[in-house]
This record gives sequence, structure tokens and C-alpha cells, in this order.
Amino acid sequence: MTNHVSVDVTDGFHLVIDALKHNDIDTIFGLVGIPITDLARLAQAEGMRFIGFRHEQNAGNAAAIAGYMTQKPGICLTVSAPGFLNGLTALANATTNCFPMILISGSSEREIVDLQQGDYEEMDQLNAAKPYAKASYRINKAEDIGVGVARAIRAAVSGRPGGVYLDLPAQLLAQTIEAGHAKRSLIKVVDPVPRQLPAPDSVQRALALLKGAKKPLILLGKGAAYAQADDDIRALVERTGIPYLPMSMAKGLLPDTHAQSASAARSYVLAEADVVVLIGARLNWLLAHGKGKTWGKPKQFVQIDISPTEIDSNVAIAAPLIGDIGSCVAALLDGLDGAGIAKPDAEWLGPIAERKEQNTAKMAALLNRDVAPMNFHTALRAIRDVLKQHPDINLVNEGANTLDYARSIVDQYQPRKRFDSGTWGIMGIGMGYAIGAAVVSGKPVVAIEGDSAFGFSGMELETICRYELPVTTIIFNNNGVYRGTDVNPTGGKDVAPTVFVKNARYDKMIEAFGGIGYHVTSPEELTRALSEAIAAGKPALINAVIDETAGTESGRLTNLNPQSNAKK
Ligand code: ADP
Repeated sequence: MTNHVSVDVTDGFHLVIDALKHNDIDTIFGLVGIPITDLARLAQAEGMRFIGFRHEQNAGNAAAIAGYMTQKPGICLTVSAPGFLNGLTALANATTNCFPMILISGSSEREIVDLQQGDYEEMDQLNAAKPYAKASYRINKAEDIGVGVARAIRAAVSGRPGGVYLDLPAQLLAQTIEAGHAKRSLIKVVDPVPRQLPAPDSVQRALALLKGAKKPLILLGKGAAYAQADDDIRALVERTGIPYLPMSMAKGLLPDTHAQSASAARSYVLAEADVVVLIGARLNWLLAHGKGKTWGKPKQFVQIDISPTEIDSNVAIAAPLIGDIGSCVAALLDGLDGAGIAKPDAEWLGPIAERKEQNTAKMAALLNRDVAPMNFHTALRAIRDVLKQHPDINLVNEGANTLDYARSIVDQYQPRKRFDSGTWGIMGIGMGYAIGAAVVSGKPVVAIEGDSAFGFSGMELETICRYELPVTTIIFNNNGVYRGTDVNPTGGKDVAPTVFVKNARYDKMIEAFGGIGYHVTSPEELTRALSEAIAAGKPALINAVIDETAGTESGRLTNLNPQSNAKK
């Protein structure tokens, strides 16, 4: 006779979901397949949102932007090997941009991978992920799922945020475990983003430097936007009276129309300033590494950053302030009155105002030209004017010229509403970011896309339509990469490497999935289509035909694009 004792059991599938939910994570972006299909099904059955994509890189980009917007790690779920590798591109991009994200991929068991026994999609994913992630973990036992997920969450959001890889071998998911034991193994991460206060003497050093400054400048980066210290940052700018420059994703932290914005005098202030306060911005290639012609006269830097090793990465930093941006800016504000810092005088602000006026007038002349076909400027003027009526809209922007022009023409009015090519200046984030932003915010998204950039994620139009997301995609269609006018010098059948199908009707693509397509050739038509699409709140695509000769090779990065001088 046997005694049958019934034991309440759960398994790895359920525990992964329980561990995520236990930490208030409610959305997964992913693409199903072996071995994680049931994980996605269960996540949905257990009340999580599962947003299914057509390519893992786009799911990963959606997770990354969700992390940036919410300060909670965005979750991307993929299959093994190629699916994992597709997601890894997004994970690397998230890490580079300091966005918190967790890539969870199904994998093959260690014993099979290590002996190379030819398992289905066998790959050493953990080690492949390591160079591109802030941290990488593999969970082998169901009872470790709680701790593995907790570590992944803390690693993603604490300190400098970044991408974390979590490897889940197939057998782990099916492993059973006694339910009580499983429940006790879950960990709710306590204080995952602790405040990190700056050292008092570092605050004094920064204030002393500012006191002596004649031509100070504040430079806001996307770290400042991420930190969600909006009120204090605005107070610092306004109480000091210091002109400021936003990096592209920091636009809107203060409205771009703010009187102290020096964006329209960017080259002047970068070259002339004597003390620059960097808030959540790295002196990387986007800022010419803090030296050279761009930076003109010698200057001293105050740098606020959570990562101590960022300091002195390219040039000497006279006053580093290490801590979280909220605490550092609050400490500066506290010390401001006692520090006796005078507001900048007319000798500094006068020439800035002059340049702003001149440059704004020059830009207005370009924007208001009456040209047919449209060019970047006239199309962007139409978009700018419509978006002004919708200050809370999320804006996604990529492309070479499309990015460069839109960044300087389209104003932002609210923080964390502009999502673009970021630190790597890459193309391919478009539809992933648009979907992530729409899902997280529940608000409309407008994606301004170069026709080439759009190609990297265009199939996600189906995803946008499937989930009925209020995303309007505008394609700047000039028939090619940069331009549509290159010709094959051999006279052969193949078109030039930079050229696409001429007069392509991208608007028809979205119609295939039930979305609304518009084909526009003038600013007036563009204005009408965009206003209508935003009002409808439905998936829409505007094929905006622009001059095929418009566009510069590599946009503003022409200097990075080597060209052959050798003759054959
Ligand atoms: P941008 O490209 O806009 O110039 P970067 O991505 O180069 O901005 O810089 C962002 C910086 O912000 C990174 O060095 C990162 O360590 C820092 N950072 C991110 N979040 C915080 C935070 N909460 N507190 C302090 N620094 C932060």
C-alpha cells in the first residue's frame, strides 16, 4: 500500500511571471517561439500585457524606451539563438544609452551547449551577452528564479541604468517546485534606486566655480530627463539665470520656447562659455568629446553624474558631482543663496540673444519658402505647427537628415516626449520606440522617419495595427538613403546602393493591415493629414513626398563617412 500525499506544485513558467509581477512589472514586449511560447501565454493569462512583435530587435527597443520613460526595467522576451541575438542589438543599445531593460531569452541547457552536442539553436548566450550588457545572469534552478529576477531588476535600474541579460534554459521553465517553497523564494526588491547624495565638499566646489564664472552654461542630457527631477532642474536654470542647451532627448525638460534656451545660439555658447555645468550628459562624440573647435575658448566643467568613472573620460572635470541628479541639483539649489552667485550679465546674455534672433530669422526664411516639391524644411514646418497644438504628444525621430532637421525645427514642450537615435545615432529604433511609448503612456505617438530608417522596423506597422495603437508614422520619402538621385556608374541593371523604388507608396503598407494611409505632396496636405490622424487616434501612416535631391550624405555626420579619393 502506498500513501499518496498530494503536494501543491508550481513550475518555472509560473515562477518567472510571479517574480516579475511581485516587482510590479506588468508588461512584456517579445516574440514567441521555442521555448518561451507558454511563458508568453501564461503571462497574459496571469494579467500581464504581452505585446508581440514581428522582430525581436523592435521588441527590445520598445522595452528599452519603456525603461527610459518609467525608470522600471522594460522587459523583452525572446527565443534562443537568432531570436536572442536580434534582441541583443537592442540590449546593447539600451546599455549604451543608459536605459534600464532586461532581455529574457530561452536557451539550451549548459551541458548541451558546453559539449557542443548539436542541440536545437545551441548557443552560449550568456557569454555572448556579457560584453553588451551591464550584467548577465543564468538561472538553472526554479528555486533561484526569485533571486535571479531580483538581481536583474536591481542591476538594470541602480546606479547608471543599463541592459541586463537573463538566460532561462528550457528545462528550467518546466521544472516543478513545491508551491509554498516557490512563494517563499520570491524577492521584492527593496529601494532599487537608492538616492545617492553628493559629498558636501563637491557641492561647495561646484558652487565656487559657478561664482567665478562670467559666461556660464548649463547642458542638459538625457540622463537629466531620465532622472525625473524636472522641477528642481527648472528651478536651477531659472534661479541662476544661466542659459542652457538641451541634448536632443532632453528637449522639453524645459519648453524649447523658454527664454533661457540657447539652442538657436548653440555653436556660439559652446565655443564662448567659460564654465559649463553638465547634467546627465556625457562628453562623448555627440559633444565633440569636450574639446576642439566646437568648444572654442578654454573652459571648466561641473559634471553631475551617477557614474564616478564618467568623470575625466575625455577632458579634465574641475568640479565633479557624483550622485543622483535629483539629489545633486537639490544640493546646488540649497547652497545657491549662500554662495553669492550673481546672474549672468548683458556681456554674456546680449550676444546670445543677438545670435538667437539672427539664427531664428535665417531658419524662418528656410521654413517659409514656397517650394514644390516639399523639402525637409517646409514639411517640418507643417509638422511643427500641428504638434504645437499637442504638447503632450510622444515624438519618435530617426533618419539622417530627417533627424538633424526635425531636432532643430520641431519644439518640445514636456519632458521625456522625444525619443530618437540616441548615443549611437542609430537607425532602426523607430517602430519599436513608437510602440513602447504608446503602450507605456497610453498617449498618441508621432514618428518622423526617414524612408531608409523606417525600413529597419517597418513590418511593425502590423503590430501597431494589431494593438490599435495611436501611432502616426510620417515617412519623409525622397526615394533613397540620404537622397534618391544616385546612379549606377556602370549603366548596369542594378540601381545605385543608396536608391530605393521610386515613388514608393508606403501609405499602402499600413492599409494592408487596416490602418489609415495618406499620400501627401504639399505642406497643406501634410498639415491636414497629420491633424486628422492625431484626432482619429488610430494607426496611420503619412507618405510625405519630398524633393529627391534634398538631403546630405550622412546628414550632419558627413565627416564620419570616409570617401575614396583614389582613381582606378
Ligand atoms: P546625452 O546623449 O543626452 O548627452 P548621455 O546618455 O550621454 O546623454 O548621458 C547620460 C548620463 O546621465 C550618463 O552618464 C548617466 O550615467 C547619467 N545618468 C543617468 N541617470 C542618472 C541619474 N539618475 N542621476 C545621475 N546621473 C544619471
